[in-house]
Amino acid sequence: MWSKIILGIIGVGMTAPAQTKRIVIAAGTLLDGKGGVLRDTRLVIENSRIVAIDPKAGPVDYDLRGLTVLPGWIDAHVHITWSFGPDGKNAWQGAATPEAAYSAASNAWLTLMAGFTTVQSLGSPADVPLRDSIAKGLLPGPRILTAVEPLMGQGEKSGTPDEIRAFVRKQKDAGADVIKIFASGSMMRGEKTLSQEQLNAACDEAKKQGMRTLVHAYRDAVPAATLAGCTQIEHGLGASDDDLKSMAERGIYFDPQAGLLLETYLQFKDRYLAAPFFPEEAFAAIKDVISPHQDLIKRAARIPGLKIVYGTDAVAGAHGRNAEDFIHRVRDCGIAPMTAMVSANSLGAEALGMAGKIGSIAPGLEADIIALDGDPMNDITAVRRVVFVMKGGVVYKNIRR
Ligand SMILES: [Zn+2]
Repeated sequence: MWSKIILGIIGVGMTAPAQTKRIVIAAGTLLDGKGGVLRDTRLVIENSRIVAIDPKAGPVDYDLRGLTVLPGWIDAHVHITWSFGPDGKNAWQGAATPEAAYSAASNAWLTLMAGFTTVQSLGSPADVPLRDSIAKGLLPGPRILTAVEPLMGQGEKSGTPDEIRAFVRKQKDAGADVIKIFASGSMMRGEKTLSQEQLNAACDEAKKQGMRTLVHAYRDAVPAATLAGCTQIEHGLGASDDDLKSMAERGIYFDPQAGLLLETYLQFKDRYLAAPFFPEEAFAAIKDVISPHQDLIKRAARIPGLKIVYGTDAVAGAHGRNAEDFIHRVRDCGIAPMTAMVSANSLGAEALGMAGKIGSIAPGLEADIIALDGDPMNDITAVRRVVFVMKGGVVYKNIRR
């Protein structure tokens, strides 16, 4: 017993040469994340990365033939810490309690199990310790990018351009990966909540700090965010075709939602019902905006060069069901299944500035690999059947029906 303890103590200080962990995956159908399809090939993974695509590689550790293999998905817009509270009601980002922390960890686990290996959380200060714990390998979850505290547009009260610039720098210092800006009121009503000058200051300061800006915008806030030179526009209900064309011309990414968010509010109505944000009449209004959202996506898809990413706006009740928006996009908005997949793979990675790291299956990229029981090209509901999840070379899920 003593020798074991002594060995254990010695073991702590020893620096053993890092052993290369090599994994070979066999795939019958492989989507490369950029729109390409490979048949009957094998992936070689060493440590956290893909090192080769070689049909002759062996021995095979994971035989995923009969499934559809593709890069782990990227959700550009979630609220990873938002959960239902101890009373079952929507707690928004919640309090700093152990229960809230466990709920957030559960959201992260559910999201990873659903095939999402990277998410952008927009945002909460509570995202930071969760992001860091996952990055250290202490908790299972997707790679998280966070906005920490968003800039809430509230007219004059949002501050002078200089104060807004200071707010942006403060988020960077707090560990933000991206800046989130609320430039308009809610989905249903409300106009711009930041002046053009304020919005320009936020986007310009972020650019100076080397950070991306994601702007929550409806109606007239959409052209304002475009003019301010933001990186990506969230939601966008009320945008005209001309607004969408300007976004395409300026290379601004667009992140509309196709149905999961509204479906979640309706499904968990009793948990959301509460003034001032969710009074009874809000739910009838939510039903009324389902088809305008789908129409927006249909129109956006027809704008040449507009880069439409995949962001669900996952809130309490939606974590782990992030893939439902693929079904809405394809079934309800007529988007081609491959376009839908690429929006959450290589295009999603490009929007994060991470195209050289994630979003595709190619040598040198992180081994974020998932497999579906079924072929989403023929049946988009296959996105519900994620049976294999690897993130950074670590297998977190491997179940076969
Ligand atoms: Zn959101």
